[in-house]
Amino acid sequence: MIAASAVLDGKGRVLRNTRVVIEGSKIVAIDPKAGPVDYDLRGLTVLPGWIDAHVHITWSFGKDGRNAGSGGTTPEATLQAASNAWVTLMAGFTTVQSVGSSADAALRDAIANGTLPGPRILTALEPLAGRGDQTGTPDEIRAYVRKQKEAGADLIKIFAANSIRRSEMTLSQEQLNAACDEAKKQGLRTLVHAYKDAVRAASIAGCTQVEHGTLATDDDLKLMAQKGTWLDPQAGLVMENYLLNKEKFLGTPGFPEEVFPMIEKNIPMYHEFMKRTLKIPGLKIIFGLDALAGSHGRNAEDFIDRVRDVGVDPMAAMVSANSLGAEALGMADQIGSIAPGLEADIIALDGDPLKEITAVRRVVFVIKGGVVYKNQSSNRNLQVGKGGLPLIVGASLRGRPNVATKR
Ligand SMILES: [Zn+2]
Repeated sequence: MIAASAVLDGKGRVLRNTRVVIEGSKIVAIDPKAGPVDYDLRGLTVLPGWIDAHVHITWSFGKDGRNAGSGGTTPEATLQAASNAWVTLMAGFTTVQSVGSSADAALRDAIANGTLPGPRILTALEPLAGRGDQTGTPDEIRAYVRKQKEAGADLIKIFAANSIRRSEMTLSQEQLNAACDEAKKQGLRTLVHAYKDAVRAASIAGCTQVEHGTLATDDDLKLMAQKGTWLDPQAGLVMENYLLNKEKFLGTPGFPEEVFPMIEKNIPMYHEFMKRTLKIPGLKIIFGLDALAGSHGRNAEDFIDRVRDVGVDPMAAMVSANSLGAEALGMADQIGSIAPGLEADIIALDGDPLKEITAVRRVVFVIKGGVVYKNQSSNRNLQVGKGGLPLIVGASLRGRPNVATKR
């Protein structure tokens, strides 16, 4: 049982001076009179674990310190992927959608069965990379989607454009229609990497979600709102990360010297785009960092960019990574809110993000599925396990009933 003075419920409400009762992996009650208190989080801000709708959980810097992208299968790459998962969880992200690589599957499964600590992972495995006619006929594209489903994909990632610099469509409307329609038939959502015209095409094709979306017109965005297509834009961290780690990206595929000034120029463009999206009534905007080498565990920085540089309302920023993010994943009945019946995915911040958004950097408590993974809150007398060690526990506690209610 958790005592809290301020709980953001994930849907835009603030609950004051209450208690969250957890049994097994789930929240069973919100009851100010419940007791006894196992975790006293008063003075902190308690909220649902964040959801990042767009990460590349296995992408890392290689042994030589340089960007290795997704391809690594060495022992170092495998450990790095596990480390990415750990730092992401420690940063307060309890669910991520990785879009990704086929290497995601083993990590997803290890975390799901409790043998490694990390966020809940949904993965696209291998993406469908648009290459014009070479991508295949609509029937071949449908077969590719079914193949991903058979391989265990939780969703389908589609590249319908190259980059902000080369924004022309790499799939025809017909090809995109086939991909998103087949995925729907297979019960899978579709995430479409799109800029400019590809944004409208993805919405017309009935795809679930658009990644990035920059260079879309207001009319394209209005169509998305009308069709209920989710938008996952970025507020700058992904670009800032390339500049921060320039020497590690420079000369690796896609990163010649001349690209870096353009990356720098793109940051205000991303800001302007997101400002424009906020003015479109009914457009559903969620949180996705596009975390890759160098930015795992720094996902929350994009909240700061959103609020500071774009003017996003802090509560809206939180909700985009809570109940709205859960809804986009089709998991609103499981995660994204603090309410009875939902998974006990709860974090606490030292500070109030509604007043000072940089509080998102100070995640001091993380519980996922009822298991406490991080507890650096100051009320240590309540959190000392047997032998006097702070009760920062991971997979070893899984299987014990009522982890958070047992002392
Ligand atoms: Zn990406």
